[in-house]
Amino acid sequence: MPTLPLTALSEDERLLFDSVLEFAGREIAPCVREMDEQARFPKDLLAKLFELGVMGIEVPEELGGSGGSFVHAVLAVEALARIDASVAVLVDVQNTLVINAITRWGGDDLKRRFLQKLTGGAVGAYALSEAGSGSDAFALQTRATEAGDAFSLTGRKLWITNANEADVFIVFATVNPDAGYRGITAFMVERGSPGFSVGKKEDKLGIRASSTCELLFEECSVPRANVLGEVGKGYKVAIETLNEGRIGIGAQMLGIAQAALDHAVRYTKERKQFGKAVAEFQGVQFELARAATDVEAARLLVYNAARLRDAGRPFVTEAAMCKLHASEVAERVASMAVNLFGGYGFVKDYPVEKLYRDAKIGQIYEGTTNLQLQTIAKALLA
Ligand SMILES: Cc1cc2nc3c(=O)[nH]c(=O)nc-3n(C[C@H](O)[C@H](O)[C@H](O)COP(=O)(O)OP(=O)(O)OC[C@H]3O[C@@H](n4cnc5c(N)ncnc54)[C@H](O)[C@@H]3O)c2cc1C
Repeated sequence: MPTLPLTALSEDERLLFDSVLEFAGREIAPCVREMDEQARFPKDLLAKLFELGVMGIEVPEELGGSGGSFVHAVLAVEALARIDASVAVLVDVQNTLVINAITRWGGDDLKRRFLQKLTGGAVGAYALSEAGSGSDAFALQTRATEAGDAFSLTGRKLWITNANEADVFIVFATVNPDAGYRGITAFMVERGSPGFSVGKKEDKLGIRASSTCELLFEECSVPRANVLGEVGKGYKVAIETLNEGRIGIGAQMLGIAQAALDHAVRYTKERKQFGKAVAEFQGVQFELARAATDVEAARLLVYNAARLRDAGRPFVTEAAMCKLHASEVAERVASMAVNLFGGYGFVKDYPVEKLYRDAKIGQIYEGTTNLQLQTIAKALLA
């Protein structure tokens, strides 16, 4: 049997990656600058993502999905992030957080109702964080009070990705603040539910076309049938989904890093100073070589974590490592690309300043760098 590199893709994986990259080059690349400047996600692009089949990658075909694997989802996120990290995170949240959580924790009724909706044109969002609870997510304050065959939700969520576009929200609230994390429960909430509204949209450094908003709940009634998993087990839903979700963030950062490296190679081969291409200077070559090694290492970590997850093997430490490393690599390689573009790297007419801004979020959301280090250290010292 021939020995393949760990980064080798199967035929269907290659086909998916290439077709998503081709789509991104054709449909997204022309509007990237406008989307960034206007901090807006075009509606028609959303429709095209559904047509492409990347909004329900792991959902079975009978429920309208593509019947793919987690690796497929990760590859789609990476390919999209090569062109635009905002589009990548919209697809990432839809697949690796929202659909993943419903698939794993939802009963037949929730799966039928929500997976069909999510593959049929509805965007999903995942609402855990609050103003006072980020890294310490289970200190959340949003309250769910039992009221007959429903729960009444009151509180506020902050930083919710996709909130502007979403119709379906997974919302974490506590049914009993005295029970600590054991009170946390996950609810499926639909846009338009009385007492629920989407609030202020954040004006961000990077991934500007991705909406990040506050959510407000004022005695919002949610049917008991919309509890995802069990009452009091929301902490498990959150932990287990985020463990997988951060592989998607690793893929997003890998896409950014690869794009920055590609731009840097192309530009330094063209740009002439002192009578020759700057790529001919050994100082520049060594920077590019180091960046290429960083990107390869990030790809190995991301693909390894995704494949472990698909194989049903333990992957939590590997997922933390892949997100930790890929997000640092994305920032480092994008920064190098800005440097190698010289003054042109600092202006918006060239693509690399945006990659640098977009890379920064990788060290913050779905668990900051320190929280990934905590996970890795815990496994190391156990
Ligand atoms: C653009 C964007 C999109 C987001 N999307 C979503 C979303 O869709 N859904 C959602 O629920 N949330 C989302 N978030 C929230 C995100 O997950 C949190 O911002 C993140 O978890 C960090 O929480 P925090 O901002 O409260 O920072 P804090 O937890 O206050 O952390 C501040 C600093 O303290 C450090 N720190 C905290 N605790 C420790 C510790 N124990 N040891 C060492 N260092 C520590 C952190 O590493 C960080 O550097 C998003 C955030 C942003 C900016």
